[in-house]
Amino acid sequence: MPALLIATNNRGKLAELKLIFAGLPCSIVSPVDIDLDLEIEENGSTFEENAQVKSVAFARASGLLTLADDSGLEVEALGGEPGVRSARYAGDNATDSERIQYLLSKMKGIPAGKRHAKFRSIMAITTPLDLHTAFSCGECRGEIAFEPRGENGFGYDPVFFLPQLGKTMAELPKDIKNGLSHRGMAARNAIPVLYTLLNLQQNR
Ligand code: IMP
Repeated sequence: MPALLIATNNRGKLAELKLIFAGLPCSIVSPVDIDLDLEIEENGSTFEENAQVKSVAFARASGLLTLADDSGLEVEALGGEPGVRSARYAGDNATDSERIQYLLSKMKGIPAGKRHAKFRSIMAITTPLDLHTAFSCGECRGEIAFEPRGENGFGYDPVFFLPQLGKTMAELPKDIKNGLSHRGMAARNAIPVLYTLLNLQQNR
């Protein structure tokens, strides 16, 4: 069976993607599974750039069909921040809860109704032989809550409030989050492309 490398060491992302790609005719591996230790600087100015840099580097190093996701939070009242800086918003070594507190401090004084935000995910899929890259994307709209709630998920999930459910993303089980999240949408959009590329590889 061919393999698909998911180029991330973020366990939250990996768990979500393994669930969505469980039906694909391939085995899903992560960099740790194949002893691949690559540090990629994510200093692009767009999610697309960062996703492509990651997927090309991992496809080249592993010789495997590779998918990389770059994602982040865009808050309307903050002019789209933190965007591509979502992971480093409160400094390089900050924890998820420090990033959340930093975001909440930036949102002080912004009233309900003006706290719109969206998560965006861009996936880059790179073929190992010619290093060609295809993209898929997804987004999820919500609001920044006034305080964190919920234990599930990762990152900014505890303050990403979904008005239609009356819950934060961190209050949802993994499969429900996948059904409505930016990453779930991008991953489902990637499935036809992955089928085609896996088929092509097998028929080579
Ligand atoms: P990267 O895609 O690994 O560069 O990091 C994106 C950052 O955006 C993560 O470290 C999180 O802080 C945030 N992020 C991306 N997706 C999610 C999500 O589904 N929930 C919460 N935070 C997310």
